[in-house]
Amino acid sequence: MSKIKSTEKVPINIYVLNGNGSQRPLCQECNSKPAAYNYRRGDKIYYRKKCDACIRKSNSSSITTPAWQRSGYTKQKSCEMCGFTAQHPHQLDVYYLDGNMTNNNNRNLKTVCANCNRLLHVKKQGWRQGDLVSDN
Ligand SMILES: [Zn+2]
Ligand SMILES: [Zn+2]
Repeated sequence: MSKIKSTEKVPINIYVLNGNGSQRPLCQECNSKPAAYNYRRGDKIYYRKKCDACIRKSNSSSITTPAWQRSGYTKQKSCEMCGFTAQHPHQLDVYYLDGNMTNNNNRNLKTVCANCNRLLHVKKQGWRQGDLVSDN
């Protein structure tokens, strides 16, 4: 017989188990809340890297801080495509090599001038590796 009174609050285990019995991952940002549910494929449940609260937080901060900046990337002083040296950082854009705006790996990011950025989008050819001149 259980002695737990109905008025007593039973702590809710936030570490929800999925179908495979593996533990639901914790939010990588705050490390205290469970990661948000993402999608389900077959009997496997996929979670996002952050909890709902942190996703909301990062969404609102992304208005002022672009994702590439939060990933630690800094714009070059000049266009990596044509070599144009900017007088103001606003003349330069950050281009995603693979076209995936969520891939903020520094290797996926290139500094291009507004001119070249527009050209890249018009041509839709993507970046040609042959155009790259490595300086580091
Ligand atoms: Zn969180
Ligand atoms: Zn350029």
